[in-house]
Amino acid sequence: MFDEYRNEKFKLHVILFCTINYFPTYENLSGYNVKGHHACLICEEDTSYVQLKHERKIVYTRHRCFLKAYHPYR
Ligand SMILES: [Zn+2]
Repeated sequence: MFDEYRNEKFKLHVILFCTINYFPTYENLSGYNVKGHHACLICEEDTSYVQLKHERKIVYTRHRCFLKAYHPYR
């Protein structure tokens, strides 16, 4: 990094504590592979998905199971 005030370079150490992002950014940040059928880091091998017939697009399903029983999105 560069300190404009002191006009010198310095080594910046950081900890990435918490982020909210979509899957492609998540892959960039963590190195976890979010492509393919096992994109969810929580479900991993049990990731529920449907591959659309004509576009071959993968749609991830059943992730509302993590919501509380009374949540309006269930
Ligand atoms: Zn999942």
